[in-house]
Amino acid sequence: MQVKRLEKRLTIAERLAIPEILKGLAFTFRIMFRKRVTRQYPEERYEAPIAAKGQPLLVENEDGTPRCVACSMCEVVCPPKAITITGGETEREIEREPEEFRIDMLRCILCGLCEEVCPKEAIVMSDRLELADFTRESLVFDKRRLLTPVSELSNRIRYTKEKYDKWHSPSS
Ligand code: SF4
Ligand code: SF4
Repeated sequence: MQVKRLEKRLTIAERLAIPEILKGLAFTFRIMFRKRVTRQYPEERYEAPIAAKGQPLLVENEDGTPRCVACSMCEVVCPPKAITITGGETEREIEREPEEFRIDMLRCILCGLCEEVCPKEAIVMSDRLELADFTRESLVFDKRRLLTPVSELSNRIRYTKEKYDKWHSPSS
């Protein structure tokens, strides 16, 4: 018995994919006259929104002292173990502060968990997104490089206070 062929016979235009080519060209012409979205980086800089999670930084108080109390909560919670803290005693009211505080930016995944757990709002995510250098060592930031005046980080601190609502006590 002969098997009946059910395949549709293609026209010449279909064989040459002319309808698809015309659709593609029409799409290209439509896009050509839209507003450009390409950024001419680095001449045109990117203004990161306040929600952006760039490099974590340590908050430096107005009197030049670190806000961090070396509780190590950020060190414990950091998924890739990018944070290393050596705590030390201090004569100040807070009693403890970091003698050394290192963040290995080659490990950091910019997750923001350190910022989220910190009970003192002493570490915050910044808008620094250009994290590239020529050596591995230069991307391990020490306390000196991490400490940033509170005035430069106040917008982010305000934003996280609202976002995480850390100090909200639910009414019983
Ligand atoms: S942002 Fe995430 S990965 Fe980076 S140091 Fe903080 S907790 Fe660790
Ligand atoms: S940055 Fe915050 S969570 Fe990390 S050790 Fe200092 S006080 Fe604790």
